[in-house]
Amino acid sequence: MEADVISKELFDKLACPVCVKENAGTLEMYGDYWLICQNCGRKYPIWDGILIMRIDEGDKWRATEKEALPVPPPMPG
Ligand SMILES: [Zn+2]
Repeated sequence: MEADVISKELFDKLACPVCVKENAGTLEMYGDYWLICQNCGRKYPIWDGILIMRIDEGDKWRATEKEALPVPPPMPG
């Protein structure tokens, strides 16, 4: 991760909003634009410097291989 879009401190507190209820949901930073839940595979984009931590957004990219994720991500719907 190059940019300071998300500080390490904040990143450590982040978890997938779906999996956090089960005390899971560790996120992996993928490139500069995506966070991937290691539990369910939902993918959360960082759009225009803003982390979009929405379940519907995570769902949208769940089936997309991480190598196929658009960079930068499109505007969230
Ligand atoms: Zn998850």
